[in-house]
Amino acid sequence: MTKIKQLSLHEAQKIAAGEVVERPANVVKELIENALDAGATQITLYLENGGKKLIRIVDNGCGMSQEDAHLCFNQHATSKISSVNDLESLVTFGFRGEALASIAAVSNVTLTTKENINGNEASSGIKLELDAGNILKKESVSCRPGTSISIENLFFNVPARQKFLKKKETESRHIIQLVHAFCLDYLSVHFKFFQENKELINCPPTETIETRIAQLWDHVFSKQMITIDTEKTTDSFKNIEGLKISGAISNHQYFRYDRNNIFLFVNKRWIKDIQLSRALLRGYQNVLPPARYPAACIFIEIDSQQVDINIHPRKEEVQFLHPRKVANLLQNTVKKALEDNLSSQIQQTVTFKKEIPYPSSFAATSQATTSYTAPQTYKPFNFDAAPPVHSPVVLKKSIEKDFNSPDKDEQKKQTIIDSYETTKIVQKNYELIGQYKKTYILIEKKDGLFLVDQHAAHERILYELFSKRFKDVATVTLMFPEIFSVSLQDMQTIAPHLAIFKQNGIEIEPFGDKQLIIKSTPVHIKNIKLSELVQQVASWIKEFEQPDQEAFFKAINEKMHAQMACKAAIKAGDILTKEQMEKLLEDLEKTNNRLTCPHGRPTGWLLSVYEIEKKFKRITS
Ligand code: ADP
Ligand code: MG
Repeated sequence: MTKIKQLSLHEAQKIAAGEVVERPANVVKELIENALDAGATQITLYLENGGKKLIRIVDNGCGMSQEDAHLCFNQHATSKISSVNDLESLVTFGFRGEALASIAAVSNVTLTTKENINGNEASSGIKLELDAGNILKKESVSCRPGTSISIENLFFNVPARQKFLKKKETESRHIIQLVHAFCLDYLSVHFKFFQENKELINCPPTETIETRIAQLWDHVFSKQMITIDTEKTTDSFKNIEGLKISGAISNHQYFRYDRNNIFLFVNKRWIKDIQLSRALLRGYQNVLPPARYPAACIFIEIDSQQVDINIHPRKEEVQFLHPRKVANLLQNTVKKALEDNLSSQIQQTVTFKKEIPYPSSFAATSQATTSYTAPQTYKPFNFDAAPPVHSPVVLKKSIEKDFNSPDKDEQKKQTIIDSYETTKIVQKNYELIGQYKKTYILIEKKDGLFLVDQHAAHERILYELFSKRFKDVATVTLMFPEIFSVSLQDMQTIAPHLAIFKQNGIEIEPFGDKQLIIKSTPVHIKNIKLSELVQQVASWIKEFEQPDQEAFFKAINEKMHAQMACKAAIKAGDILTKEQMEKLLEDLEKTNNRLTCPHGRPTGWLLSVYEIEKKFKRITS
């Protein structure tokens, strides 16, 4: 008996479908590419249940004749090439003729199309209904020129694959990312995106990338972007004939917690390329803090002989003939653009300083913080002049003052120290010497000289307070709730998880489709930039998303407590009064794990009497 069996065409197609289509976003990509190949200038996407229930794309492209509408679902049926030789001069996305065949094999498809070539509209259109690739119904219909294609119940006949589809929010996040890429790539196309019949994206045609960015995100974000174009810069970096890089990158003041706002395009194809991403990040070296990422939209144009686009089944990767040269040009272009932008900003700041008597440190940050009004006077922080106050009434007042006062640091340090509830007197077994380098607290102990890292210690105290004794944490209702914009992806990520924030005393609600409003926060973190915390949490949610809900909540909560503690803790360089130092040591004493901060750094370190005496040769053994 033979072991080898010939698979039926139908089974083979279902398997092949897996190569092109792994998740709903792959279907959306193929369908939008088909619409663009058909010359559409208006493309609308409708999504239900993250694409698992419905993906519908409507375009105003050239449409298909009745015959082509039947043929397009056959495998290897394409109007775009007739032989492999055509690949070199290819100008379309599609060429394999397998997307529609593959998608149709694993879903229910309805296609309505009417041909329209150079304004010559067919008299009627055609509507086909297919089930797992088989045409069930066909009828002549009157419809608008162009194509509308609906994909329902994706993978209904491949349970093994359906099982691997992620939650609605995850699938839709991938699709939103993809739609962003198309919007950035095709400025002259009017894109619209509806999710559960709600319009989330509407980008009318535009000529500039800045306007597109503003349409997709907002004007504040768009202002943080610097345009780049190797055609307009000096020739010194150019290393491959015909290689051009243009687009927009975020400036040194902007950062994100993940790489999701980095878009790379090669000859108008959105690609993922780890070497190019790294080159981009190298361009930002020493500009961004560690583990922070820019936003960027990079268009690379290169001679088609210098790049192979046919190396990946879903065409998400390309291979360059000289990858290093492309990467170098990108890195240098980014670096130069950032330097130029920074030097022009410094010049502006100097002029600004002359006009208004604010210290430059405030001028430099005023742009980044949008929710606070400009101060009338500026007073540098001075702890000695403002001893800690313990009355809750004053504390409440200080919260009000917070919104029109620049003394945020002062408030912060005050509330940190104030808000400890304890009155317990702890028997001191040490003598406080003082503060060293505004960073370490020096203590005389029986067994030696003890140095405490003030930031690490305070971080540990707050971490334990947040994670173990959250009931003790006071929250404040913000008099002026903080409203800030988030990307659609972050919104999709955060909206289902607002309870995690609530558990941590941060009351957040969606405010429209692209904004969040923070109504209350724990008193300790009221002065930290909550918008950053929210974005950071969004990136963790994306990273940790897993079916085990308990493990997921635990991981997010732990990270969040550590982050809240780190942000709210006093910093190295903060001058502390004797009382404040004593309070800190007293609180540290009460923590369970006082030897390290939540990140594992030591909070303190003992220089033993023995070591000291040995150094001074008072003892010899
Ligand atoms: P490919 O894009 O690689 O040619 P597809 O399976 O995606 O393969 O599409 C098969 C053919 O169907 C295309 O070559 C094109 O002629 C036609 N087609 C698909 N989508 C559209 C559309 N939205 N408008 C016009 N024609 C389309
Ligand atoms: Mg195609």
